[in-house]
Amino acid sequence: MGKQLFVPTFDVDACLEQVRECLEIGWTGMGFKTVEFEEAWKDYTGLPYAYFMNSETAALYVGIEILKRELNWADGDEIITTPMTFVSTNHAILINDMKPVFCDIDDSLCMDPDKVEALISDKTRALLYVGMGGNSGRIDKIIEICRKHNIKLLLDAAHMAGSKLNGEVVGKAADVIFYSYQAVKPLPSSDSGMLCFKDEKYDAIARKLSWLGINKDTYSRASDGANYKWKYDVEYVGYKYNGNAVVAAICLAQLNCIERDNAYRRQVSSWYMEEFDKLNLEGLRYIKHVNESESSRHLFQIVTDRRDDLLTYLNSKEVYPGVHYVTNTEYRMYAADKGDLAKADYYSDRILSLPMHLRLTRQDVVEIVGHIAEFMQK
Ligand SMILES: *Cc1c(COP(=O)(O)O)cnc(C)c1O
Repeated sequence: MGKQLFVPTFDVDACLEQVRECLEIGWTGMGFKTVEFEEAWKDYTGLPYAYFMNSETAALYVGIEILKRELNWADGDEIITTPMTFVSTNHAILINDMKPVFCDIDDSLCMDPDKVEALISDKTRALLYVGMGGNSGRIDKIIEICRKHNIKLLLDAAHMAGSKLNGEVVGKAADVIFYSYQAVKPLPSSDSGMLCFKDEKYDAIARKLSWLGINKDTYSRASDGANYKWKYDVEYVGYKYNGNAVVAAICLAQLNCIERDNAYRRQVSSWYMEEFDKLNLEGLRYIKHVNESESSRHLFQIVTDRRDDLLTYLNSKEVYPGVHYVTNTEYRMYAADKGDLAKADYYSDRILSLPMHLRLTRQDVVEIVGHIAEFMQK
């Protein structure tokens, strides 16, 4: 069997047992397990609020919409963001009629705090940070800058379920954190995400806005005694972005595995580093994580000028790496927003994500690195 980039691995029996409860009780929609998972996630992370949604993309869209509405941000106001991310991050800015202002990255592949202040204008409202592959980068410096200039800090933690820094959830100081439980992320489900506001008021709005704008959800209505179940008001033209109990059931089972799974990814990552350090290949290096001993290690990325040819070579050996990411300014809708993004451009052409999942053995890692060495030494 070839070596894939990601292979989601589930605790199947525990997932089925959780899902079985939903089916037996007859509750598969919003509520029940979604509430249980929100509580479990708050316990696990120490974050004050958590709203379970059908994807992180939905969480990003609604999260920014709420801040914009409540803080009176105008169309065209600016959010400082990274070009080195999945397009969900930056689409969330555009879809809310705001302007992404791209900041270059540093050698962690996260936003470079030394480049931020020059981009702050009187229209800057927020900064959207991405913890690439579980790496914290220099988020402490970013937090300081946001405080100093009084701009909101938004953290796209798609790669960061279980990632910590000094024993704490990364970016606890952020005004809002977005998590993904998409199939290939550190805590896999069948598509879902979490919206974690620091402010209770915004959490309450998110729950309505993501449920057609209705101010009393069906679950609290069902548990509200016999009367007035049908009585609710509609406060917003809202979406149907809520998560459901079946997916939350899978998340609950997988939450029990996250510490073990992240530890295994760190193990795989340390095998890669050991092999590469031994060989010391000319023209190739790997990306280190600031929080190496606490990172989710969603990604193990190498850097080489010969990326495209290496990728083709590895495919011929049935190894299937990926690229995270192509700098977003390569895409037509972001091309006009391009400033000086030398590092993002550099890495965009040179990074490669090696297979990283729970079914990889040490032998697999030795073989993958062996193929890379064959190619680099040719
Ligand atoms: C996966 C991902 C998202 C979107 O998450 P979904 O749950 O798939 O919507 C957003 N940002 C980054 C960096 C991602 O990797």
